[in-house]
Amino acid sequence: LTILGIESSCDDTGAAVVRHAPGQPPEILSNVVFGQADLHAAFGGVVPEIAARAHVEKLDLAIERALAAADLGPRDLDGVAVTAGPGLIGGVMAGVMCAKGFAAALGLPIIGVNHLAGHALTPRLTDGLAFPYLMLLVSGGHCQFLRVTAADRFTRLGGTIDDAPGEAFDKIAKALSLPQPGGPEVERAAARGSDVITLPRPLLDRDGCDMSFSGLKTAVLRARDAALVDGTLPASTRDDICASFQAAVADILVAKSRRALDLMPEATAFAVAGGVAANGAIRAGLSDLCAERGIAFTAPPLALCTDNAAMIAWAGIERLRLGQTDDMSLAARPRWPLDTEAAPMLGSGR
Ligand code: ATP
Ligand code: FE
Repeated sequence: LTILGIESSCDDTGAAVVRHAPGQPPEILSNVVFGQADLHAAFGGVVPEIAARAHVEKLDLAIERALAAADLGPRDLDGVAVTAGPGLIGGVMAGVMCAKGFAAALGLPIIGVNHLAGHALTPRLTDGLAFPYLMLLVSGGHCQFLRVTAADRFTRLGGTIDDAPGEAFDKIAKALSLPQPGGPEVERAAARGSDVITLPRPLLDRDGCDMSFSGLKTAVLRARDAALVDGTLPASTRDDICASFQAAVADILVAKSRRALDLMPEATAFAVAGGVAANGAIRAGLSDLCAERGIAFTAPPLALCTDNAAMIAWAGIERLRLGQTDDMSLAARPRWPLDTEAAPMLGSGR
């Protein structure tokens, strides 16, 4: 199967081609991402209207480049997979409309993919992970532990009760006058500083694997205000704040991963995915935990942790294998919970 994937749910326009022949590892033939960071920089965050317009402008070019880089023509494809939600609705609609036009013109099946399923199935693309596995999905908008038992079965074991860590990284970067997206900037600053500022680790002693990050964020803002000298923050203090914040997030994620592993003794592996999984300190903490527990640990390469279309193409292949395709009634959904026990992941939003 050779599938074109399309991603446009936030501020990255992506197109990718993934091929999977039975009995062989899947192959990413191309993975094109056009970021929009420069367009949103002046606003200190993603502006949905600007994002949607940029997706409309860049989708065709991204697809053209993805096919060229894969050295394929449209006729070599077996289907088109597109993020149908959750995400910023204008961008998701742009991608879904583009995919529909493309699929209709070529008579190809269209597969609507849940963006979070894309993140959560990535370890199967990169490492051939077998079911069942435990997944920590930790990104800009989400933070949850999922029991993954099939390509369309995700059970939420717990997660954040307030902010997502990626959002906290971004807000803290903004508060410290660092550029967006904040995660990589805070990580770079953290590498220059040390974990010397005492910050809370909410819910750490609570049973289960729910997490909270909003109190931590507030404590960081308070630490910043307390450290201002004549209204400015010394660079070394800023770096220490970043190091201390990153250490607190890593501690919370590791402690709760320990509990999640207790809740899923049948897991064959523990995988982390989503943009925050690009963080070295967090990856190291989780990897150490898994070594201690004697369970395999997987974290996709950085470019496949953040938003990309290869993960959407792969999730499309998985759904196509299950005989699940959509039709021209496929709708863009701003919200689309992954958890099959809360709501079905399948269906096209009709
Ligand atoms: P979602 O997938 O929940 O819809 P999203 O698509 O915005 O959200 P991703 O692209 O998966 O999220 O991840 C982006 C987030 O990851 C941003 O909040 C960014 O700051 C964070 N991030 C990226 N790199 C790092 C890093 N090295 N350390 C910490 N956070 C990071
Ligand atoms: Fe994402």
